[in-house]
Amino acid sequence: MNRTIAIIGNPNSGKTTLFNRLTGSNQHVGNWPGVTVDRKTGHICYQSHTIDVVDLPGIYSLSPFTQEEIIAREYVLSDAPDGILNIVDATNIERNLYLTMQLIALGLPMVIALNFIDDCRAQGIEINCEALSETLGVRVIPISARKGENMDKLLGIVTGGMQKPAHQPAYLHGVGAAIGKVARALEETQLRRENLPFYALKLLEGDSHVLQTVTLPPAAQKTVETTAAALSSHGCEDNEMILADALYDFIEETVGRAVKRPEKPVLTLTERLDRVIINKWLALPIFALLMVLMFWSTFGPIGSFFADLFETLIQGALIPAVQNALHAAGASDWIAGLVCDGVLGGVGGVISFLPQIIILFFFLSLLEDTGYLARIAFIMDTLLRRIGLSGKSFVPMLMGFGCTTPAVMAARTMENEKDRRMTIMLTPFMSCGAKLPVYALFAGAIFPQCASFIIISLYVLGILVGIFAGWLLKKTVFRGVSSGFVLELPPYRLPTARGTLQNMWEKAKDFITKAGTVIFVMSIVVWLLQNFTPTLQTAVDSSDSILGVFGRCIAPIFSPLGFGEWRASVSILTGIIAKEAVVSTMSVLYGVDLSALGGLLSTVFSPVAAYAFLVFILLYMPCTSAFATIKREMGGWKWAVGAAAFQTGLAWVVSCLVYQIGSLVFRIL
Ligand code: GDP
Ligand code: MG
Repeated sequence: MNRTIAIIGNPNSGKTTLFNRLTGSNQHVGNWPGVTVDRKTGHICYQSHTIDVVDLPGIYSLSPFTQEEIIAREYVLSDAPDGILNIVDATNIERNLYLTMQLIALGLPMVIALNFIDDCRAQGIEINCEALSETLGVRVIPISARKGENMDKLLGIVTGGMQKPAHQPAYLHGVGAAIGKVARALEETQLRRENLPFYALKLLEGDSHVLQTVTLPPAAQKTVETTAAALSSHGCEDNEMILADALYDFIEETVGRAVKRPEKPVLTLTERLDRVIINKWLALPIFALLMVLMFWSTFGPIGSFFADLFETLIQGALIPAVQNALHAAGASDWIAGLVCDGVLGGVGGVISFLPQIIILFFFLSLLEDTGYLARIAFIMDTLLRRIGLSGKSFVPMLMGFGCTTPAVMAARTMENEKDRRMTIMLTPFMSCGAKLPVYALFAGAIFPQCASFIIISLYVLGILVGIFAGWLLKKTVFRGVSSGFVLELPPYRLPTARGTLQNMWEKAKDFITKAGTVIFVMSIVVWLLQNFTPTLQTAVDSSDSILGVFGRCIAPIFSPLGFGEWRASVSILTGIIAKEAVVSTMSVLYGVDLSALGGLLSTVFSPVAAYAFLVFILLYMPCTSAFATIKREMGGWKWAVGAAAFQTGLAWVVSCLVYQIGSLVFRIL
């Protein structure tokens, strides 16, 4: 069996960058805490060694406060990897070493990768790795995961020989002695020997999780109690504080000896930029400006140019070519209809939006990698606090601009269980990438003059409804105090070309795959269902078809929203499978290609009805894959169905308000 090592470090310390370098994989790297929430595995193949590597979520300590901390610690204690690769952010060394100290107490073979050494150099910070290594009892290798500096050396140690810590740190104030004493008393238990200093530390701290899971023989129990009591008699604080203080004192002393910082710390670029970017007055205008720039590029002239080019390619070259080929092969009309109107119409309709998806994700990727997205969460926090919400919810919510599924998982970073559930319920209100083709289709067809503004307004509306729903939930289902905001602002960084291209490629790949699988199958099903009547005769008029009959049954639900048309109702239903399916279903049902579909829609939908339709698409329940994730993360059908009902109900209400008020205003004008 291969050996397994775990990469463990603080959030945003470069774990995933290092993981990708070591294993050659392409996991998502983002410049903000909380990007990796589930565990990823890869392999290192180096000089005839093969080693499994696990990328764990970022944690600040091994305390049982957040789900990630519990996951990470369960993993190291019960699976006992063959080694720990502890990655430390050298520009933030004090805070990072807090976790390192707890890892050392685990007693497993270990190496410390001191990352961001390139940034340290730029900031004039000098670190004496030998001295650090000496005091900690663990080898320290300075690296830059981003630039690939010192990778060979690290790989050599990881594959060749990681060693257990040479000694346990000498804590001051009798703390070291107390830990040692308890660890010795634990020798008679079943606990793994090398882990004993860790258990001793946690038992003295009074860590609830360890107290619950570990049963001690009476003698050991006695030692733990007397030692803990002796510790706390030193001061009036509780043991957790005393131990944390001892850890920090040790760290401060160690860092004081090994790290040399420049005399007069110059204001870093990040600090200078933040004076402007998160300035009380400028923050919101800058945010607005960036949003306009992003959407204008995506949907304005640049985006339209590429979109038109792409569409011409599909409609003008691909479809006729297939038609001719089918004709030449002597295919029946039936087959030709299925392939051209069903498959090519549906899949082609969705694929036409690929250029815009790619452009939008180029911008989102830049916003994320530079560290700006984390600032939006910060700016929002100051606003949200006033209505009793935690800005921390915003981190997963902003990830929802990409895709709801990983965003829902990212809510695991929240310590407060009520806040976590609430955030999961709000994330689907954010406009995910899959809703984009629907917006682009309608905005382009019905609001050609102000398409980008219509789309921006939907994004903003999603955020506002999210905030409103959060406020509502906080007043009812999730009453209670939110925990404080501890999102730490990452430094601004130049995005790497590789990272940006990779993000765009991943997104494009997802989009194409979905078009080729889910949308492909859905298009065929929709085409068949609209060509046959319930008695399985060929439908002459598609409104007599199976879908037509069914659509007309549910259409009245949407009449008050202005689109009680059966085709629109059916596409809302197929949109539950995947949001892009709204577009493919419409092009199959209306039986025209994309350019004609736009024209047709503007005759079916009034502008107000079209906007109400988009609002409904924005807010109603997320797609099945997101729904499944919500069910898993919330732990049950009851929650997931409740959330979906809440989202769909709210969508109906808001969309109805938009249509009714909008129509009224238009009538008056
Ligand atoms: P994780 O949250 O620990 O997985 O961290 P990531 O791997 O996602 O990296 C966080 C950010 O730090 C990204 O913007 C990386 O490009 C950047 N980064 C990672 N390693 C280095 C490094 O050695 N030097 C510099 N300058 N940036 C780095
Ligand atoms: Mg990561």
